[in-house]
Amino acid sequence: MAEDKNNLRTPIVCVMGHVDHGKTTLLDQIRGTRIVKGEAGAITQHIGATEVPIDIIVEKCGDKRLADKFIVPGLLFIDTPGHHAFTTLRSRGGSLADLAVVVVDINEGFKPQTIESLNILKRFKTPFIVVTNKIDRIQGWKVHQGESFLSTYKKQTPEVQALFEQKFYDVIGNLYEQGFSADRFDRVTDFQKTLGVIPISGMTGEGIPDVLMILLGLAQRFLESSLHYDINGPGVGTVLEVKEEKGLGTTIDVILYDGTLRKGDTVVIGCLGEPIVTKIRALLKPRELSEIRYESKFQPIPEITAAAGVKISAPDIENALAGAPIISTTPETLNGVIERVKSEIDDVQIQTDVDGVMIKADTIGSLEAMVHEFKKADVQIQKAEVGDVTKRDVMEASTINDPMHSVILAFNVKVNPDAQELLDTTPAVKVFKNDVIYRILDEYQDFVKEQEEELEKLRSDTLTKPGQFKILPGCVFRQSKPAVVGVRILGGVVKNNTDVMLPDGSVVGTVKGLELNGKKVPKATVGMEVAMAIDGVTVGRQIKEEDILYVHIPESDSKVLEFEIFDTLTPDEQETLDKYLTIRRKEKPFWGK
Ligand code: GDP
Repeated sequence: MAEDKNNLRTPIVCVMGHVDHGKTTLLDQIRGTRIVKGEAGAITQHIGATEVPIDIIVEKCGDKRLADKFIVPGLLFIDTPGHHAFTTLRSRGGSLADLAVVVVDINEGFKPQTIESLNILKRFKTPFIVVTNKIDRIQGWKVHQGESFLSTYKKQTPEVQALFEQKFYDVIGNLYEQGFSADRFDRVTDFQKTLGVIPISGMTGEGIPDVLMILLGLAQRFLESSLHYDINGPGVGTVLEVKEEKGLGTTIDVILYDGTLRKGDTVVIGCLGEPIVTKIRALLKPRELSEIRYESKFQPIPEITAAAGVKISAPDIENALAGAPIISTTPETLNGVIERVKSEIDDVQIQTDVDGVMIKADTIGSLEAMVHEFKKADVQIQKAEVGDVTKRDVMEASTINDPMHSVILAFNVKVNPDAQELLDTTPAVKVFKNDVIYRILDEYQDFVKEQEEELEKLRSDTLTKPGQFKILPGCVFRQSKPAVVGVRILGGVVKNNTDVMLPDGSVVGTVKGLELNGKKVPKATVGMEVAMAIDGVTVGRQIKEEDILYVHIPESDSKVLEFEIFDTLTPDEQETLDKYLTIRRKEKPFWGK
């Protein structure tokens, strides 16, 4: 651990962004920031994290005087990139990550996961920077390995600089669309108001000194108060991953953010039921590469102090939950600590509805993020759980009658083989599975739209639609039983077997045949002139030439037409319905309401 002068722990940094935009490459580059053996300290490899001490950062930036300016001991980068790790690192309702870096490929611009990362950071109010990566791919770019951005930028030709500016400001525009005021980092005076954007190449190391420097600056300016820790206090951390290790059994990888953990300590770990109380059998860190003569990849250590990543071997930790807290305790404080761990798990704000979909996610944090995004999109959620999709989940979903809720949304989890078997024979249950929340949401919303359209179609096929027609003069072919007259459809549609109504509201007969140019047709639509047989009327008695008649719409159908699907009717159908309702409501003002 880097020595800390002011009782400030190392800030924890997460790297986020769209797949293939260069998160891993950036982290590799940072890990490789070892400088030639000298006075500076070395990069320390933790479990799940890499620590870059302040000396290395200032050395990289070429100005040793800076060492005195900074009081944080360095930066601890979480090795697993992605918003997934960020949300897993949950602590006290927020994120454990103190800072974040959002990577955007400068040649590709914004992608769904870029937006997802920004939304998550906005919600957690985590200070962050954006890096526009892969500047070395800009046509004509001359690489200056490991230099600061401004230094390499000045050495590019005006053409290359112009090309860069254009791509760079596209990204600034993207950020603006997402509600961020952003600018190139060296032009930002107030990082609280304006988001700093650093052009880099994770591959060539260009711009990396700037990234480290700006992160330190942000930590110093915005986090100082939250980085104080108690070196002698109980160890407090978050479970990053539960992992089987050969020869060790189940282990947990933990990011420790306060206090000290020691071998033999009693710890309380969060899980879905009662918290686990166990004793640390071993604290493990990665073994140096030079020590390959040892069989195990891990080296036992007696104690570890925050901030750090460590592997813990202990009995009874199989049910530990990624994203759950772990806190060390003495016998005196045990009950209080159990309560604290429980309440942190209960704090997971997942309010469910009476009806709705089922959500499965891999960690508490991602479940929370998922529920948040879906609620925002007005999706009702009946159940939200951590874990893979099981046969029981499928069975439960199959009992739901509403096809829009007979759905399992699975984020970053597997579908168990027996659950898949059941799904194959249960087409009513739909599973939407992805590792990007937005994709699941998009797919689900498309599905809902499709379902609604289908329902709409089904309903409109059985509904009596509005229709009006006029008996044409000189076109009475038969007086009665049935009367056969020539008509023109003035609005809507007239189908065979529908009843007809006079303008005075009386229902007088039933359409018993329609012919267009001598051929039978099932319906006639607006503008058509057809021969119509009407049973139950006599021309000259109930009806006569030039009369305007209406399709009789039952009251229940009228309600659907007027109040549910009016917008989907054509203008002539709407007009016809209005006329029909006026007639109906002359004597009964509340008809169809
Ligand atoms: P991740 O999915 O965000 O972790 O992306 P990776 O770090 O795996 O990078 C995806 C691809 O882009 C790999 O082929 C990298 O070699 C390449 N890449 C990443 N950063 C750079 C860069 O700065 N310059 C160039 N030329 N290629 C890069």
